[in-house]
Amino acid sequence: MTMTSTAPLTAAQPAAGKPYDPRYDPLVAPDPGTGRAYAPSYWVASAGTPPEDDGPVLRDIDVDVAIIGSGSTGMAAALYLAQEHGIQATVLEANQASWGCSSRSGGQGQNASGRLKRSQWIERWGPDVAKRLDAEIRRGFENFRQLTTQIDCDAHDGGHLYLAHRPEKLAGLEAEARLMREQFGYRTRMLSAEEVRRDYCDERETAGAMFEPEGVGIHPLKFTFGLMRKARALGVKVHTASPVQGWHTVEGVHHLRTPGGTVRARRVAVCTGGYTGQALNPLLKNRVMPILSNSVVTRPLTEAELRATNFKSLTFLTDTRTLRFYYRLLKGNRLQLGSRSSVSGADAEDPAHLKLLTDAIARKFPPLAGIRIDYSWWGWVDVSHDMMPRITQPDAAKKIWYAVGYGGNGVSFSTWAGKRLAERLAGKDGGHEVFELPIYRSPLPFPNVLGLVESPAFAPFRRLGQRVLYKWYWLRDEK
Ligand SMILES: Cc1cc2nc3c(=O)[nH]c(=O)nc-3n(C[C@H](O)[C@H](O)[C@H](O)COP(=O)(O)OP(=O)(O)OC[C@H]3O[C@@H](n4cnc5c(N)ncnc54)[C@H](O)[C@@H]3O)c2cc1C
Repeated sequence: MTMTSTAPLTAAQPAAGKPYDPRYDPLVAPDPGTGRAYAPSYWVASAGTPPEDDGPVLRDIDVDVAIIGSGSTGMAAALYLAQEHGIQATVLEANQASWGCSSRSGGQGQNASGRLKRSQWIERWGPDVAKRLDAEIRRGFENFRQLTTQIDCDAHDGGHLYLAHRPEKLAGLEAEARLMREQFGYRTRMLSAEEVRRDYCDERETAGAMFEPEGVGIHPLKFTFGLMRKARALGVKVHTASPVQGWHTVEGVHHLRTPGGTVRARRVAVCTGGYTGQALNPLLKNRVMPILSNSVVTRPLTEAELRATNFKSLTFLTDTRTLRFYYRLLKGNRLQLGSRSSVSGADAEDPAHLKLLTDAIARKFPPLAGIRIDYSWWGWVDVSHDMMPRITQPDAAKKIWYAVGYGGNGVSFSTWAGKRLAERLAGKDGGHEVFELPIYRSPLPFPNVLGLVESPAFAPFRRLGQRVLYKWYWLRDEK
């Protein structure tokens, strides 16, 4: 793994522990390991001392609610269960606190959930459902925005720039901006390439951009640690180095086997995101597609480089490639940039994936060509097979709930998903019409072919299909 930090920051790594495994792959390994070190992300290096946790499970214990996974979903669910329902959950984490996506993301808190745009919501469900879904996601975003003012997480409330990476992409952005204004009442607007270059940064690929005022960029690990501190102050237990490696149910009680003891729980919430192992529970098998996202952070830009790239803002950016680049200037003047490239864990260390990102920096910001990369890492994004998340109890006969499938748009929405999940676990979801929305109503679907036939039989071919699609996306976006 490439990770050459010449400017050591306060490391959140534990003094001792099992090394990070860069080749870990959720479709291959049964679980994410036990007590492994964090990915070498910039966030881990700069988050400061992690909150105290309750160490590994060391004996058999009985709990009311067990939450599997300590990312922002699991920690938000635990926080809201304690804060709003008086239930102190026990969180089980395989490795370190917030070890998965929540210590690796781009930190772009968008007014979104899942991979679909609002125009696609209308196509799929019609305008009425789309409007109700918008109200829900918007509420979640406002709640997230509020939390970022309470937690010290380097929040920058500067909106989101969606950059057309070639002129042909402008018409689509213009149509989406119009729909955002006219159907949903947002103040979304278009900017010319000159306005982007003058007011935000001299991004050389852009042909113009859609600007959404809703968008808060955060330090994702400081944020999730903040959720965890709040939750623990209310009596939540967080057991690290405690992967759930076996699960059976006896007379309605879930027996979750961890290396140090079995946790017997009456209710279980699964918040394992892209790190959901195939063997964790049959209710989740083949329902989450883990997709790798690679990210880099450069050394701090010099004053001359800041002038040459005309960075005027910390507003975060994404571009219109199908495998989009996401990037922003961070507090402290480092550039962060990420995209999707590698398909399997075995292939993740191939230098071609790092090169994809450094080439993008050189193309988008020529004065930064060849700039030293201080941090390089990757993580598994949880993509659902219909591109939208689910926060649901998939089988009414079993006291198991999950919140997964954000498709790379979970920084903001995960906290709201955690809040809704807490309501469901507490039995407060009955008769509330918001739970009729598609993201709450049905289980995660199996893989499908062209959205027509859905079946677990397609699961073994997903990676093959992904490799073909990546080639096709590249041709379509670059040629
Ligand atoms: C590189 C990258 C960039 C991203 N950028 C963005 C972005 O800019 N904006 C955005 O909105 N979203 C982004 N995302 C997605 C976002 O980070 C997540 O949606 C969000 O953090 C919510 O994560 P989570 O809590 O659901 O899961 P995670 O944070 O992944 O937490 C799941 C946890 O479950 C644990 N676990 C798994 N199996 C077990 C088990 N058997 N027993 C115990 N514990 C287990 C894992 O160890 C892990 O810590 C990005 C993701 C990646 C990887």
